[in-house]
Amino acid sequence: MNAMNVAITRKTHRAAEELLGSAGCGVWTNPHDRALTPAELREAAAGSDATICMLSDAIGAGLFAAAPRCRIYANYAVGHNNMDAAAAARAGVALCNTPDVLTDATAELAWALLFAVARRVPEGDRMVREGRFHGWAPLMLLGHDVGGRTLGIIGAGRIGAAMARRAAGFAMPILYTRRSGRSPEMDALGARHVSLDELLRESDYISIHCPLTTETRHMIGATQFAIMKPGAIIINTARGAVIDERALAAALREGRIAGAGLDVYEHEPDIDHELPAMSNTVLLPHIGSATFDTRRRMAELAARNILDYFEGRVPRTCLNPGTIGRR
Ligand code: NAP
Repeated sequence: MNAMNVAITRKTHRAAEELLGSAGCGVWTNPHDRALTPAELREAAAGSDATICMLSDAIGAGLFAAAPRCRIYANYAVGHNNMDAAAAARAGVALCNTPDVLTDATAELAWALLFAVARRVPEGDRMVREGRFHGWAPLMLLGHDVGGRTLGIIGAGRIGAAMARRAAGFAMPILYTRRSGRSPEMDALGARHVSLDELLRESDYISIHCPLTTETRHMIGATQFAIMKPGAIIINTARGAVIDERALAAALREGRIAGAGLDVYEHEPDIDHELPAMSNTVLLPHIGSATFDTRRRMAELAARNILDYFEGRVPRTCLNPGTIGRR
């Protein structure tokens, strides 16, 4: 293999640099503690044979035209709504993502949010730190039961199924939707495949795990909040724009639903101004996959996809294998 150059658009776990370096690649990593600007991204990709990119990088036709040498973009994420698949197909550019390695970490964060909202964990923490805890009280910080309540999973893929597996410990009936009908894995867990409307009407907890696509953008808006139970709690660790954030703020303000736990936002990093002021929201800064081991595995997988490509193999988690060899 001739020496190949790889750009990494944001400092990630060092495993990516180490793997690529030990295979003889030249590696350039964004030295700033911020995302690259579009112009910087074009310049970085133009000087490279491959790019490891972040979910905040827009990967599309303009970039492919400006960086004709770069033949593969390996997203440091499983979600790939930042990548224009049609433009990549036209340009013969390979796109990869990091499935599986972040499944457990993301499902666990969804559970953390679910419990944090249900049992008012951040409110209690603030009360203690601010010196407002003056002793046990019978009506202090009452929350919602989790065990035995119905969990609705929208998008029963890898992360949705991992969410469901963990629900067994809490004896929760599970409802699910996905694009392609019933899932043998979910059925084996005792989960019931239902329509989106039935899931929204029947669930006490609703957890979103579908990708952001043209079909799922604003899938949950005013109409959907209107049919949820008044005590429903919604959790989103997928992508912010699956929920209409204005409609969510209105549903919470009007008491249509009981709470929300969010890791992702419609216009990241901006957040609807009402949500942080509400006591029944728990808001995290997009950290679904942010564990030490998971981020290392993501770095390794992104780098291995690129090495696969350079060594003439179809990258192991390539999203568009039909492009291989076309650029
Ligand atoms: P996955 O295995 O592809 O699962 C996605 C599921 O969503 C599939 O069951 C799919 O249905 C379903 N789906 C697609 N379109 C749908 C629609 N219109 N209506 C209902 N369901 C639909 O993906 P994953 O690995 O679980 O990841 C899911 C998403 O989580 C990613 O796309 C990413 O955006 C997000 N994520 C966020 C974080 C974070 O940091 N917060 C971390 C990791 C992932 P079929 O099975 O029928 O195709």
